[in-house]
Parts: sequence; structure tokens; C-alpha cells
Amino acid sequence: MIFIDTHAHLDMMKKSTPQEAVDLAAKCGVKYIINVGSSIEASKKAEKISKTFQNVYATAGIHPHYATEFGPQQKKTLLSCIEGNSKLVAIGETGFDFYRNLSPKEEQKKAFESQIEIALEHGLPLIVHDREAHQETLEVLKKYHKQKQFKAVMHCFSGDRAFAEEVLKLGMFISFTGVITFPNAGRTVEAAKAVPIEKIFLETDAPFLAPQAKRGRENQPAYCTYIAEKLASVKGLRVEEVAEKTTKNALDFFGI
Ligand SMILES: [Zn+2]
Ligand SMILES: [Zn+2]
Repeated sequence: MIFIDTHAHLDMMKKSTPQEAVDLAAKCGVKYIINVGSSIEASKKAEKISKTFQNVYATAGIHPHYATEFGPQQKKTLLSCIEGNSKLVAIGETGFDFYRNLSPKEEQKKAFESQIEIALEHGLPLIVHDREAHQETLEVLKKYHKQKQFKAVMHCFSGDRAFAEEVLKLGMFISFTGVITFPNAGRTVEAAKAVPIEKIFLETDAPFLAPQAKRGRENQPAYCTYIAEKLASVKGLRVEEVAEKTTKNALDFFGI
């Protein structure tokens, strides 16, 4: 079985080095890792890591927490991450985070729209972060979707079934983290039931959100397997099928 962790922050891990995380992942069948950029600094680190490890790819983006830091200079840096790296596979993560609200809403929106425009201009897929901002996120995505079809994934899906259906209507993919293994994940489990396996990716969001079996520890790309097992049981599939389909979905989406 081969897995792809479509969303990890190797640059933020504290308990293991990127090398150790990549090695452990390989042992567990996680063949590819997408190192997602969440700030200017992190996007530069993602580029460096992707150039160090043959099976790690990078994205460039600014998380809504850091939206206030987004301006012309930062845009230039993001563009240089695209141009200077043949292993740059997406723009993001970007979107809204009203849970922690570390940047004002208007700044979050500006940074989000600007990053969507970069993705559209460069024909790159988009990784969307949405925390407690489902309606606002949908509104922005719908606006751009009307202008042009584009590839996007709702990462770390945290909505309900109805929201999943709205997201699917935009042609988007949905990725699930270890949150789906938590005992109180009923709503996420119900949403996962409504999403066809052809539209799902696996992601750990390491070092955050370790699955229940590893809760309290630093998360690892290797722990993708726990998410696959949970999804298999939720959807009544064999874990081999979940691995095969989600890997194919992600490789096609990111053009790997
Ligand atoms: Zn996120
Ligand atoms: Zn993330």
C-alpha cells in the first residue's frame, strides 16, 4: 500500500528532524509528502526541504493567521517560490480562521483573494484553510469559481454533511486529518460518509492533530495510516482501496 500525506509542516516539527520524519513515513508506506507553506518563512523552508528530499513536494502560501504580513513584497516572495522550484505543486494554505482570529477578517480576505488569483494565473491548485468560517470561505470560492474552474482542496475538513455537499458542488476535493479518529468526531464522520472516495485525500497536518492512537504526541506524516484505517471503516471499504484511491486522487491533483 502506498499513501500520500497531502498536508504536513515538516519545518515545524520539534521532536524529529525532517530526515527522521521522512524515514519513518517511508517505513509506513507514506511514499510522498506535501510540505505546505503557511508563512513567508515557512514557504521558503518548504522549498528547501523539497529540494533536499526526492519524495517531498512544496507549496507556497500564507495562513490566515499571518494575513497581516501579506503585502506586495510577500507576494513577490511567493512568486519567486513558484518560479524557483519545479517541485512547487500548489498555492496555500490560505483562507479564513475565525477561531483564533489572529488577523483581522478584512486582511484575511485580502490575502485569500490575492492567493487565489496567483493560483489562477499560474494554473496551480489551491489549498484552502477554513476554521469556523464556512460561509465566508464558500462565498469567496464561489465568486472565483463563477469566473473560472480551478482545482482546490478543503483541507482539514471540519464542517458537517451539508457543508461537504456545498464544497463538492464547487468540484473541490476534501481532505481529512486525524481529527476523524477522535471519539467526538461524529459530525466529521457523518460528513465523510457523504464524500465519494474519489474526492478524498489523506493529510496529517503534522506536527499538529495526531490521531487518537498517538494523541498527545507530535504528529508524523507516517500516521496517515490511522486516517486511512478510520476512513475504511467509516466508508465500508478495504484499507487497500482507501490507500489506492486517495493516492491516485492526490497524485493527479498535484500533478506528481
Ligand atoms: Zn490549516
Ligand atoms: Zn496546515
